[in-house]
Amino acid sequence: MPVIEEITKVSFERVGSHSHIKGLGLDENGKAKFIADGMVGQTKAREAAGIAVKLIKKGKLAGKGILLAGPTGSGKTAIAMGIAKELGEDVPFVQISGSEIYSAEIKKTEFLKQALRRAIGVRISEERKVYEGKVEKIEIRRTRHPFNPYIEIPESIVLTLRTKDDEKTIRAGREIAYQLLELGIEEGDVIQIDAETGRISKIGTTKEEEGIFLKRKVDMPSGPVLKIKEFTYTVTLHDLDVVNARAGGIFSLFFGGGLEITDEVRERVDETVKQWVEEGKAVLVPGVLFIDECHMLDIEAFSFLARAMESELAPILILATNRGRTKIRGTDIESPHGIPIDMLDRLLIINTEPYKKEEIREIVKIRAREEGIEISDEAVEYLAELGEKTSLRYAVQLLAPASILANSKRVEKEHIMKAEEYFADIRRSISYVENLEGMLR
Ligand code: ATP
Repeated sequence: MPVIEEITKVSFERVGSHSHIKGLGLDENGKAKFIADGMVGQTKAREAAGIAVKLIKKGKLAGKGILLAGPTGSGKTAIAMGIAKELGEDVPFVQISGSEIYSAEIKKTEFLKQALRRAIGVRISEERKVYEGKVEKIEIRRTRHPFNPYIEIPESIVLTLRTKDDEKTIRAGREIAYQLLELGIEEGDVIQIDAETGRISKIGTTKEEEGIFLKRKVDMPSGPVLKIKEFTYTVTLHDLDVVNARAGGIFSLFFGGGLEITDEVRERVDETVKQWVEEGKAVLVPGVLFIDECHMLDIEAFSFLARAMESELAPILILATNRGRTKIRGTDIESPHGIPIDMLDRLLIINTEPYKKEEIREIVKIRAREEGIEISDEAVEYLAELGEKTSLRYAVQLLAPASILANSKRVEKEHIMKAEEYFADIRRSISYVENLEGMLR
């Protein structure tokens, strides 16, 4: 397996607008608190989601999924995100929309395969040899640049690292010197150097200085300078697929666009991961694949997903829709929510309700805080009323432009009203266009 230390974080995408959600906000009896974990109201749906989380944790939702059905902007995405957060901090949450599978570049099933694999995390624990200590002394030897005698470049380095109990002097080449210079490492800083790859990480500084705000103040490390440390990080199966596809062939380097993840690559990755799990080096972390507007998926996509849910490496599938009875795409068959019956049979259905004013008011406040926008009570009240008449999403969306109109100062009601003039909500926009068309007819 090639260098896995290159990738260290799970990609959480498009969740900016849901960044305030930290869980489902339930008490120990599974009852929803009105406001908790960034969640507001929608109590019945949140409590139902809490039960689903318990089922997932007990392995009782294997091969099944969840359907969130309710009007647009009733917090379906927010709840799906809350479920993922309840499952664990490093649990991947992947959000796609049903319409995204129809892309010109990539086959529907390939798109879904990638989405499924982005939603499965692999928590890897590794023991690595590292040098760790306070930088006691740095001596960089320099030499003249081979082509330009006026420039000096680092040639080698002698570095003394200290801990409370040990001291070691390390000699290293130009690469280590460059890294130290780039990271701005000084004497007194505490660093870690991976003994195999030579990669340096800054831990902090032991120096007593006024106004240290960029460097973390840390204690002098203890124990030997060269030690074995345990590192844990989570990557996704898709991350591993990408790394391996790249390593796949020399041609990809010359002919560009060579990043093709074949099923063979995926099988290889699966085998390696299974081996890691058996050896106790890794743990699988099934995440959540959230498919919004699932009525846009067609019959082929549904049958692909149904099969995928049965595989041993499956994430938790959460579908969402705002449709009632509609045709299954790609067929003439009508079905509840446009979902084939065999798929529906596997889904626990949770309904979300339209928001009330009190809920919208609190969500607006949370979002303003999250986006660092100061806002007056009167403006919040106005947004809550507006949200009730139009939609929560529209009310929340007006915060950012209103803040621009307020010159980043406190947002008042007048700024919201101005923003409302500039930006239409969906209903107003439709009737505007329809009226104009009527006039032209
Ligand atoms: P849906 O998926 O049903 O269309 P959504 O979850 O995407 O709805 P939006 O209408 O986009 O909800 O919500 C606007 C904002 O309000 C987002 O920042 C969302 O996270 C937040 N939000 C929605 N519901 C809740 C809730 N119950 N508690 C806290 N924040 C919420």
